Amino acid sequence: MLNSGLIQALRHPARPTVSVEFFPPKDEAGGAKLLQTARTLQPLGIDFASITYGAGGTSRSTTLAYGAELVKLGLPLIGHLTCVGHTRAELVAIIKQYAEAGFSGILALRGDPPKGQKDFTPHPQGFEHAHELVRLIREIHPGRFAVGVAGFPERHPDAVDDLSDVRFLAGKVSAGADFVTTQLFLDNEDYFRFVDRARAAGVSVPILPGIMPVLSLKQARTFCGFCKARIPAALIAELEACGPDEEAQRKVGVSWAVRQVRGLLARGAPGYHVYILNKAESAVELFAALRN
Ligand SMILES: Cc1cc2nc3c(=O)[nH]c(=O)nc-3n(C[C@H](O)[C@H](O)[C@H](O)COP(=O)(O)OP(=O)(O)OC[C@H]3O[C@@H](n4cnc5c(N)ncnc54)[C@H](O)[C@@H]3O)c2cc1C
Repeated sequence: MLNSGLIQALRHPARPTVSVEFFPPKDEAGGAKLLQTARTLQPLGIDFASITYGAGGTSRSTTLAYGAELVKLGLPLIGHLTCVGHTRAELVAIIKQYAEAGFSGILALRGDPPKGQKDFTPHPQGFEHAHELVRLIREIHPGRFAVGVAGFPERHPDAVDDLSDVRFLAGKVSAGADFVTTQLFLDNEDYFRFVDRARAAGVSVPILPGIMPVLSLKQARTFCGFCKARIPAALIAELEACGPDEEAQRKVGVSWAVRQVRGLLARGAPGYHVYILNKAESAVELFAALRN
């Protein structure tokens, strides 16, 4: 099985599992940059890459196209897939395309409402929640893919409370998910509290923490605003101390991420997933610092 090494690495890590996340480029120049970034990062010990689907208004067809390019580079690839606007039949067709393109796994997501809509409305012939997509993948391709789902250390923004949120997470795992990748967070305590809640709710699969080396205070505010992630006061202070020097702020972002990853691994995280924003520089510096 294509995915068996990946699942094995996640379940029984001889060393931390390291993954990086790409988003589909908007144009050819962005595509060339994405592939260059992948070539730069690949020799640095990446276990798998993932590529988002329709996030932030990006085109969906490019997920398949660039996912296939990443597979050709030899990177085990997790393709994200959301239920937004899709019938069950369409999802079946996309899952088949992912299999044909050699994807090793799928991150099964509900997705966010399209721009301009407040609430998520399922397609009448589609799915309301991610666990239904997990079940579909397992039903039509049993054992073919490593299947991941999303977890939210600071709770999903629509969730009523922490407890119901992790109960629904447990439902996604019962439906067949092999692992959880978390939303980015900048305070490790949020991750550890989330893992404790998830374990208490019966989630026993690996929970891969999502890390984003911030690029600047402005970028962090925009991105974290979008994901509803909290920026710790200590990080804001470090970034503000750099003044308008964006390169200095980027270095602070890398240093914060290095400290986060060290703290996570020291307390048992199975690895880490880096939101690299299609850029190599901060990820290269992060990996280099962590080797020392
Ligand atoms: C690692 C990661 C990668 C992502 N990649 C993408 C991407 O590529 N493209 C994209 O568009 N978005 C992406 N997202 C964002 C994600 O699609 C949104 O956060 C979305 O709002 C929730 O998706 P979900 O899969 O967690 O949904 P669900 O698990 O369905 O949860 C959505 C909400 O419903 C609740 N819920 C869950 N199950 C049930 C149930 N059975 N009954 C009642 N309530 C329930 C949950 O508590 C939550 O509040 C990603 C998020 C993460 C963390």
